[in-house]
Amino acid sequence: FFNNDEYVKPKILLFGLRRSGKSSIQKVVFHKMSPNETLFLESTNKIVKEDINNSSFVQFEIWDFPGQIDFFDPTFDSELIFGDCGALVFVIDAQDDYLEALSKLNQTVTKAYKVNPRIKFEVFIHKVDGVSDDFKIESQRDIHQRATDDLQDAGLDIHLSFHLTSIYDHSIFEAFSKVVQKLISQLPTLENLLNILITNSGIEKAFLFDVVSKIYIATDSAPVDMQTYELCCDMIDVVIDLSDIYGVSAEERANQEQTAFDNLSSSLIKLNNSTILYLKEVNKFLALVCILREENFTRQGVIDYNFLIFRESIGRVFELRSKKLKSNNDDLS
Ligand code: GDP
Repeated sequence: FFNNDEYVKPKILLFGLRRSGKSSIQKVVFHKMSPNETLFLESTNKIVKEDINNSSFVQFEIWDFPGQIDFFDPTFDSELIFGDCGALVFVIDAQDDYLEALSKLNQTVTKAYKVNPRIKFEVFIHKVDGVSDDFKIESQRDIHQRATDDLQDAGLDIHLSFHLTSIYDHSIFEAFSKVVQKLISQLPTLENLLNILITNSGIEKAFLFDVVSKIYIATDSAPVDMQTYELCCDMIDVVIDLSDIYGVSAEERANQEQTAFDNLSSSLIKLNNSTILYLKEVNKFLALVCILREENFTRQGVIDYNFLIFRESIGRVFELRSKKLKSNNDDLS
């Protein structure tokens, strides 16, 4: 389970016109850059992958228009690009004229669908900070309409999902969480395990987080409240920052092998409104963050014991998956 080679991660491709916000999204979600710093980012002009793949649950690549991609170029290996892709995210700048973006969206979706009809297509209507709610609703309606009309005119029945996003709030993390969750076939099992954990431990809400990106890959079935989610995200930042400063020796940091987040990571924060935030590491990529009332935290031993069982089950869920994938591959070869 902890072995990277056996572990198959959801692969997400990020497409969009130049300056639509792709590198900003990547920097903010995967590299903890603050949104204001993205103002000075150089525009994307190469494919960005590798760098986060070893530290995150999610595999992630950025593809840029125009220039970098020409679908009609014979050297463009669409089988390679789209063959094992789980989701294709297309970023549209809502503050800009989006007609060109819509035509690229159409080309990209059509091409990708032909290679791999199982891809989930997700459209991020991006940079919706600083625009009115009316404008948001209207542009989502308009973009939705035009994009699906174009596909239908071409006789294609492809489902597109739409998300309103901005790097200036948590909407970008929330949107990514939804995208990633669709790619996890064990989601119902994970949700079920979380439900069992919270009912038996007096927990109000629990999220299973990909630590590096703060995307939650599953949560219990109680509704998600944005504020609670933001609180949990902030907790991860605090824990990682503190561990980075005090949890890794200078030597370990120098050879960059040791990450501050390891299998003993755990943290507890008491807020002054009788709420407790409790974080426990689950594996190399994932952490559980729970919110509970202080009066339910009197028997920490029970919670910790339940957590151990939970962690073991999560381990088995993913172990099964890698075994299954492996045997499928063996059958194929
Ligand atoms: P790329 O070429 O698609 O990689 O685009 P960049 O990431 O370089 O972004 C282009 C510009 O858009 C930068 O100046 C960013 O600061 C800005 N930007 C990105 N995301 C947002 C957003 O959510 N809201 C606003 N207002 N600006 C954004």
